[in-house]
Amino acid sequence: MSRLRIGTAGIPLAAQPRTSCAGVEKLVELGLDCMELEFVRSVQMQEQTARELRDVCEENQIELTVHAPYYINLNSKDPQKVEASKARILKAARIGWLAGAKSVTFHAAYYHGDDHSVVFEKVKQELVQVRAILDDEGNSICLCPETTGSSSQFGTVTEIVSLALEIPGVYPCIDFSHLHARSLGAMNSYEEFRRVIHLIGDKLGRSALEHLHMHLSGIEYGAKGERKHLTLPESDMNYPAVLQVLADCDVSGWLICESPNLEEDALLLKHEYTKITNIKGGIHNG
Ligand SMILES: [Zn+2]
Repeated sequence: MSRLRIGTAGIPLAAQPRTSCAGVEKLVELGLDCMELEFVRSVQMQEQTARELRDVCEENQIELTVHAPYYINLNSKDPQKVEASKARILKAARIGWLAGAKSVTFHAAYYHGDDHSVVFEKVKQELVQVRAILDDEGNSICLCPETTGSSSQFGTVTEIVSLALEIPGVYPCIDFSHLHARSLGAMNSYEEFRRVIHLIGDKLGRSALEHLHMHLSGIEYGAKGERKHLTLPESDMNYPAVLQVLADCDVSGWLICESPNLEEDALLLKHEYTKITNIKGGIHNG
């Protein structure tokens, strides 16, 4: 059965020792459902660890997603940097697949002042190659470029959904906090979040909403967009509206909490979401 899973961006803070396997056990104890492997500096996980992690996840019914390194720019003017970027996505996708992860997200590119449609074509061309390599290896992890938090970065909702529309095996990763930061504080209402979810459903079909990769946290923003992540209570992020939309549109997949207090806000999201769905269930039954 598909459902919305809520979890942490990385190993929960309370987990000891600081390993992914111990992280999964902590998630079970807390009542959370998924974890993102944060390969944001580099991909260091060994194959043996990935296999062990896969077993621990299966035993405990915890699902995994992956965040590929930050140092990715498919629109670099330096061809070597583009190749290195693709290699980083591939490495994260391969070790993630071995660990049983369903989806890998990454920030695809910077605009560097180029025409946005030119950047779109460039990113598309590179991602087609990455997808083809993974397909040849029998690796069907979802490739999910993320909506980004700053206006210098490629990654509006339209760009990300268009990429997914044009490349089979590519799906959107929606970071609601980035949408809010990028729009300098707009994009923070039920109606706006619902429009995003409807756009995905209309363009990519209902199935895209059944395994949607998402990020949510508190966020601080300035004139250029994202500054840093905050906890939900100390930010103006309208997370109850996000959760209400996800419940009303029956979205499932992985909602990863990137707040600095990780599991604390993930649990806040989970409790709020459970409350919303219980109320909805009550209305249906009554
Ligand atoms: Zn990200």
